[in-house]
Amino acid sequence: MPALATKLSNASAPATIAMSIRARALRAAGHDVISLALGEPDFATPTHVIDAAHAAALDGQTKYPPVDGTLALKQAVVAKFARENDLDYALNEVMVANGGKQILFNALMATLDPGDEVVIPAPYWASYPLTVELLGGVPVFAECLEADCFRLKPEALERAIGPRTKWVILNFPNNPTGAVCPADDLRALGKVLLRHPDLWILCDEIYEHLVFRDVPHVSLACAVPALHDRILTLSGVSKSYAMTGWRIGYAAGPASLIKAMLVIQSNATSGASSVSQAAAVAALNGPQELLPVMRDTYRRRRDLVVEALRSIPGMTCAMPDGAFYAYPGIAGCLGRTSAGGKPIRTDDDFALALLDEQHVAVVSGSAFGMSPYLRLSVAADDESLAEACRRIARFCADMR
Ligand code: PMP
Repeated sequence: MPALATKLSNASAPATIAMSIRARALRAAGHDVISLALGEPDFATPTHVIDAAHAAALDGQTKYPPVDGTLALKQAVVAKFARENDLDYALNEVMVANGGKQILFNALMATLDPGDEVVIPAPYWASYPLTVELLGGVPVFAECLEADCFRLKPEALERAIGPRTKWVILNFPNNPTGAVCPADDLRALGKVLLRHPDLWILCDEIYEHLVFRDVPHVSLACAVPALHDRILTLSGVSKSYAMTGWRIGYAAGPASLIKAMLVIQSNATSGASSVSQAAAVAALNGPQELLPVMRDTYRRRRDLVVEALRSIPGMTCAMPDGAFYAYPGIAGCLGRTSAGGKPIRTDDDFALALLDEQHVAVVSGSAFGMSPYLRLSVAADDESLAEACRRIARFCADMR
């Protein structure tokens, strides 16, 4: 076989995807599997969004789109940032890509030189370090502790920043912990970032509509205007509008950075699907009533799951204030043997044995940079969530 690139020697698909493939295989073999491994809304894409895509396709919007996004979608993105985030951007300061994931890739590829460091608060979305490493950068982690409800502390951020830091990535509401960042905390982090004028800041706000507290989501670029020109704010329609498969994400930031990201994008993909972009216009400009409905549903499910997990001896669970995940600690469940005879020493052991023996797919904290924890998605129906929690409780009770 001809060789693969050396930079791929450490790279792999995210554990979230690996777990859901394993769950699918068990299901295909006839088992009743509950998968809480993927971060994917279980709602259907709203009908008016699908109608807009259909109309666009019939209308001939089936050609190569502009690399940076259609004018209609870029205008909708500019209007969205003004309306919801109190942020003013011009058309050349926004761009559209194939999901938020490609925004991340473009931004890092356009800026990282070999050995450049990217500060990533842990626990983190696994794609951050995997992408940084793939592009020759070095991830540096700032720990967010369960005792602090996984909030990023300014001191932890300060400790992680060094002379080679090119980016700091902030993600609120957070995947996998659900931590949010109120304006006062943002300003405290902002003070640290203002002391380091040579780094970019990526604010990943893809879960911005899923905040369960009374205080609304605030963007860092709004809370700390002095940082505005160094911030790339990322969002998208995947989570907010149940549109993961349409692959539309977008970002706003300094024109020079956006321009560099577009050089990457023009070579990699020529832009995002024109039909999906028409759908995203309908999502952003159309009725927004579904958003609080989905948020309240996730909040109810979060309450159900957190309460059930907290009642399992040995398990702890911080209350997630946003997104659609729970991140329970399982330190008190380790050091025993599962009913199926597997030693449960780590969260990886726990997640694998739980899937094999109780047919519940979750992802171990090791995939998110903090062990021993599990990440459960609460984007599933109530009955599946309740049954999954019963099976997890049984799995723990049956350990010897
Ligand atoms: N950021 C975070 C924190 C995410 O969890 C995800 C999806 N898992 C994304 C970005 C990207 O989503 P998409 O590519 O579907 O826009």
